[in-house]
Amino acid sequence: MVKVKLLEETTDSVTLQLEGIDRSYANAVRRFCIAEVPAMAIDDVVILENSSVLYDEILAHRLGMVPIRTDLERYNLPEDCDCGNPLGCHKCRVLFVLDAKGKEKITIVTSGDLVSEDREVRPVSESIPLVKLAVGQSVKLEAYARLGRGKEHAKWQPCTVAVLTDGKNEGTYNLMVESAGGLPAGKIVLKAIDLLEKKLKQIQVSVAAGSS
Ligand SMILES: [Zn+2]
Repeated sequence: MVKVKLLEETTDSVTLQLEGIDRSYANAVRRFCIAEVPAMAIDDVVILENSSVLYDEILAHRLGMVPIRTDLERYNLPEDCDCGNPLGCHKCRVLFVLDAKGKEKITIVTSGDLVSEDREVRPVSESIPLVKLAVGQSVKLEAYARLGRGKEHAKWQPCTVAVLTDGKNEGTYNLMVESAGGLPAGKIVLKAIDLLEKKLKQIQVSVAAGSS
């Protein structure tokens, strides 16, 4: 009999005590939290103007690493979207615009300066520094965020920490997951279980088809 006890939960982290399941299965859930649960991240950047000291590539990389609030109900992974458009549509990508000019001695452009076309999909924090501008320097760009998976690139990892440790009692394991901020930690675990179950079903179907 499988028993799950909630030991601690906040929006950012969750700790569960698992009992009655194999360690390898518990570890599979942990790995799905890291590599399979989709998260939103900036993936494509069109630089229109950049007279800052940062190269375009470094700026684009920094944008990619900004954690973004993720809505798994309203957005599709590009490969699962019915638009079939390589550029995406309103169901599989979100446009951010950045238009910043150096006005004071040093202007620090932050994640809060990114203007999203979807109010719900925005940076988790507004104070992540992106670039410093001197007077007269400017950065103007369009950035497209999309859902992706941690197994493709770390920027799509929904959690920063996912660890499995032995619990207090024999045969119990504690799974602790800490969110990067895009999704509530509890939701990451639920989604991981859901995706693992789907994958196991697919294996079952393939095996059944192969053996008949
Ligand atoms: Zn689409």
